[in-house]
Amino acid sequence: MKKYDVFVIGSGMSGMTTANKCASKGLTVGITDELPYGGTCALRGCDPKKVIIGATEVREFAQRLKGNGIDTVPKINWEDIMAFKQSFVDAMPPKIEKGYKNKDIDTYHTSAKFLSNNTLQLGDEVIEADKFVIATGAKPRVLDFEGGNLALSSTDFLNLKKLPESLLFIGGGYIAFEFAHIAARAGADVSILHRGEHPLENFDQDIVQHLVDATRKLGIKLVLKTEVSKIEKKEDHYVVTGNSNGKKSTYMAASVFNSAGRPPAIFDLDLKKADISFSKKGITVNDYLQSTSNPNIYAAGDSADSKGLPLTPLAVMEGHVVASNIIKGNQKKVSYPPMPSVVFTLPTMATVGLLEDEAKEKGYEINVNFEKVDNWFNARRLNVDEYAFKTIIDKNNNTILGAHLIGPHCEETINLFAMAIKTKMTISDLKTMIFSYPTMASDLTYML
Ligand SMILES: Cc1cc2nc3c(=O)[nH]c(=O)nc-3n(C[C@H](O)[C@H](O)[C@H](O)COP(=O)(O)OP(=O)(O)OC[C@H]3O[C@@H](n4cnc5c(N)ncnc54)[C@H](O)[C@@H]3O)c2cc1C
Repeated sequence: MKKYDVFVIGSGMSGMTTANKCASKGLTVGITDELPYGGTCALRGCDPKKVIIGATEVREFAQRLKGNGIDTVPKINWEDIMAFKQSFVDAMPPKIEKGYKNKDIDTYHTSAKFLSNNTLQLGDEVIEADKFVIATGAKPRVLDFEGGNLALSSTDFLNLKKLPESLLFIGGGYIAFEFAHIAARAGADVSILHRGEHPLENFDQDIVQHLVDATRKLGIKLVLKTEVSKIEKKEDHYVVTGNSNGKKSTYMAASVFNSAGRPPAIFDLDLKKADISFSKKGITVNDYLQSTSNPNIYAAGDSADSKGLPLTPLAVMEGHVVASNIIKGNQKKVSYPPMPSVVFTLPTMATVGLLEDEAKEKGYEINVNFEKVDNWFNARRLNVDEYAFKTIIDKNNNTILGAHLIGPHCEETINLFAMAIKTKMTISDLKTMIFSYPTMASDLTYML
């Protein structure tokens, strides 16, 4: 039986980081993935999504400047943009695998299941390892109502050869909003059904309201307080039944997508056979990202029940912490800096640090600046309707606790706020900064 110092399950950003770091320190490493190497971000998430959004940005920018220097608004060529996207996706697995070969990391292409504390079933093979790293990410939630299996996944959306005439998204999280904006700009009829009163629940709701307005203005039907209970297939379309306060309503679409959240992909691993504790949020870990029940197991990324958000930069960061603790023994406790999170719609929405209510609950004395600033130069030159911010300031220390933005390029501006929060820059420090002008960053000092 082949034996490793470290065996990594999952080749996404967290698993890849751990495997490469452990191998570079001379440990014998094996890795497996049931899908092509690269994980969600590179193959089925952030990167392909952002390539497609590029085309919608061009159209949207042209639309905004139509009559102000632009005559013709370009149309999105779905086949072309998908081919461009695919060129990034196809390049990843061979490149990653070549990297592993160069580092003498053994690669397996099968799903993994624990047989015991130190053995793992990989297809027909069984391997043994001193340490295992669970880096299996997350999977779409199973829709356990009638016809739930008829809904397509986010991966299916990113692989659509042809854009359906109409699309319906079940669940109003960031993936639904991003994909709905893409599809609507590419010419489809789009609906989002969300069971709660508010979509994008983890974001500041005053800022979310601006996105809701922009989304509806784009022609997307956003239906709130409606829980889907059935999907039926008809000849060339689907009928989705929703319940709102006991009242039934039906919606039709050519394709239905499951965007109802992504629980950790840990439930097929036979965790009990290796004494690994877990919850519905992931593998239960301590501050070293080590299993609380089996010290030979570590977990990182979306599959770990840690305080890190299920986002790529956190998967990478946790992968480093796990590798360090395997290499040197438990020395590195995971500590999270402010974690910016972005909804890549147009307008883009971004958040970092505490929400207003969280700051109050934590007992901070705060000043809140909340303003719609579509009259600022940056909004006017880009001809955008939505540009707004909310900043939460700690009155006593004069530092920023949270920033919540919507508007052009706030996916970039939010990083400056993240840096200011992390380094505890005071408002006076920030106000004396010189930012290049005219840039979006130059607006930052007026947001404080
Ligand atoms: C549509 C979409 C868009 C996203 N956009 C963004 C974004 O813009 N920015 C951002 O920061 N984050 C984004 N994310 C989230 C981000 O992709 C994840 O947080 C990140 O990829 C998690 O990395 P990971 O290493 O934990 O897991 P993953 O990258 O998911 O890797 C886990 C791997 O484990 C494999 N695996 C699972 N179970 C087994 C098993 N039993 N045996 C063998 N292999 C297994 C899987 O096949 C997978 O390749 C997006 C996610 C989605 C779905």
